[in-house]
Amino acid sequence: MDKNGHVFDSRCYSEPATVFIMVAEAPAVEFSLDLNDEQRQLQQWVHGFAEDVMRPAAAEWDEREETPWPVLEEAAKIGIYAPEFLAHAAGDGTGLSLPIVIEELFWGDAGIGMALMGTSLAVAAIAGSGTPEQAIEWVPQCFGTPGDLKLAAFCVSEPDSGSDVAAMKTRAVYDEAKDEWVLNGQKTWISNGGIAAVHVVVASVDPDLGVKGQAPFVIPPNTPGLRQGTKFKKHGIRASHTAEVFLDEVRLPAKCLLGGKEKLDAKLAKAREGGVTRQSAALATFEATRPAVGAMALGVARAAYEYALDYAKERRQFGRAIIENQAISFTLADMKMEIDAARLLVWRAAWMAKNRKEFLAAEGSMSKLKASEVAVWVTERAIQILGGMGYVRDTPVERFSRDAKIFTIFEGTSEIQRLVVARAISGMHLQ
Ligand SMILES: Cc1cc2nc3c(=O)[nH]c(=O)nc-3n(C[C@H](O)[C@H](O)[C@H](O)COP(=O)(O)OP(=O)(O)OC[C@H]3O[C@@H](n4cnc5c(N)ncnc54)[C@H](O)[C@@H]3O)c2cc1C
Repeated sequence: MDKNGHVFDSRCYSEPATVFIMVAEAPAVEFSLDLNDEQRQLQQWVHGFAEDVMRPAAAEWDEREETPWPVLEEAAKIGIYAPEFLAHAAGDGTGLSLPIVIEELFWGDAGIGMALMGTSLAVAAIAGSGTPEQAIEWVPQCFGTPGDLKLAAFCVSEPDSGSDVAAMKTRAVYDEAKDEWVLNGQKTWISNGGIAAVHVVVASVDPDLGVKGQAPFVIPPNTPGLRQGTKFKKHGIRASHTAEVFLDEVRLPAKCLLGGKEKLDAKLAKAREGGVTRQSAALATFEATRPAVGAMALGVARAAYEYALDYAKERRQFGRAIIENQAISFTLADMKMEIDAARLLVWRAAWMAKNRKEFLAAEGSMSKLKASEVAVWVTERAIQILGGMGYVRDTPVERFSRDAKIFTIFEGTSEIQRLVVARAISGMHLQ
């Protein structure tokens, strides 16, 4: 039981990798905005952690620009940073538990939230592209255990391949004699890059096939040839580590190719014949995780809106609270409306993804695009409502604004999301 009286014990969950496997076979669930008791309890429990542990630590780790290991340990100790927890949230047939949990964590703090959730992108790639045996082997290693925590990283971006994933230069070559893969290349902007125990790296196996010639590999802990390059100093989410990763003659046993060689060979053969193949490993992972990024943005937007609302009721100028001016109250009304509208898109996309409804209008991208732009707009408005107090680090609103900007950039920029939506609704390969 936590200090708010919520009983929640991650040990009651099924074995994590099993849940990831069961997820794919779950029966369809109708869409509903009514949270059930378990979802409400989960929301309150995570909110308690966000309020009591993350909020008080947020400013310090933002200034330090370091991974907040003590906070991650706290999260692991109570079961929030654990494969069982992620599997349980991801296993909810309505699709809503995961965005609910993520929104609360990012309401607590986006930098610490990203340090916590960075691992989940690699886990999504393993669960999405790997075999059940690979999920069972690698997912627990992505998290470690309380007292011996580990992180994971998902490595796609490169210096010359950001939005243009097909331009990827990192190569994976199969050494038949040794039944090993050899990886060489450079990744950049990698959350947890170099400090992660497990890196999932997307590499090109057949560059002539563009994204269809790419495959994801697990790089186990302490593999020779993988090293961290520059760690970036960032505008926001500064408690989350972002760095370059270099791969120099990294040799991997065959079992590290997610999905296995037989499946990859069949995919490559189909692509060479010009047949329709599934999306690239990188794009498939991003499509599945976009509603989750939308939920991150919602958390930051809601934090800024709530702070600005309270401030507007307290702050007095011209003998009245500033909220008594329509310029302020109408702005707050719009902020609330935009956040709620964005949440509806995020929840719809999360439900669709969970219930295997095809994103015919790129609803996943739409949800991430709307929520990220709402977060940037709401946090900027919050600064305006606070005036000078919004511009300094004495209040968290300045940090919320810096943090919000990342959501329009990573996992596909706003422009790329618009392109994905435009292609989906037109059926044309627009540029
Ligand atoms: C803090 C942080 C964490 C990150 N974490 C990860 C991670 O863990 N793993 C990972 O693989 N990557 C990660 N990234 C990388 C991120 O996904 C890329 O930065 C993003 O995809 C954009 O690529 P880019 O920076 O190369 O920009 P570019 O692709 O160079 O784009 C620059 C500008 O051009 C625009 N543009 C490009 N192409 C088009 C087009 N066709 N039409 C219209 N506009 C276009 C873009 O929208 C953008 O405005 C992270 C980035 C940051 C900053």
